[in-house]
Amino acid sequence: MRIYDIIKKKRDNEVLTKEEINFFVDKYSKGEIPDYQASALLMAIYLNKMNKQETAYLTEAMMNSGEVIDLSEIKGIKVDKHSTGGVGDKTTIALAPLVAACKAPVAKMSGRGLGHTGGTLDKLESIPGFSIEMEPSKFIESVNKHNIAVCGQTASIAVADKKMYALRDVTATVDNISLIASSIMCKKLASGADAIVLDVKTGDGAFMKTIDDSFALAKEMVDIG
Ligand code: URA
Repeated sequence: MRIYDIIKKKRDNEVLTKEEINFFVDKYSKGEIPDYQASALLMAIYLNKMNKQETAYLTEAMMNSGEVIDLSEIKGIKVDKHSTGGVGDKTTIALAPLVAACKAPVAKMSGRGLGHTGGTLDKLESIPGFSIEMEPSKFIESVNKHNIAVCGQTASIAVADKKMYALRDVTATVDNISLIASSIMCKKLASGADAIVLDVKTGDGAFMKTIDDSFALAKEMVDIG
């Protein structure tokens, strides 16, 4: 299998197989495919899109490119939520304690800001002494004891997504529904929760500017799940 042929296939608007998508994600995360070829493939995906099956394969491959957290030591149905980048970034801080108070264990791994969008971790770190770094054992202990923990995603989660997101950021390939949905869902699925609430923002300051696009992104993420 050659990355050249995979790029050519997507350029010509053909459907990629699971093996081709796995090959790309695996080789790119190991540094065996250079950025210029990965950029070409991302642009071909951006322009010709991926179907639902390709998007699901991409998500699974990116999820398996890093650690998949096991939260089975936490009792009950562990819940998590993801907001798709609004500006103010306030949802987790208000919602997570409310849900925990209703007795659902909240095991929340949050991210940093992307572009102009806010990041819960950056906001929490502005509290003197607050540490967002937590060993998995401490994270599990906190959820079992307090019904809630919010920490940063470990560097070992969805390694391929980290590289691909940085590349998308500089190649004008961020705002494609398959690429956004797979990028968000691979991290959420790798974080180990049993149930995930997706809070999709719409408007001038969000990734999705219209209600129709937001519904399409929401639907894509639910289908992946
Ligand atoms: N958030 C992500 O994690 N990935 C994207 O592509 C967009 C928003």
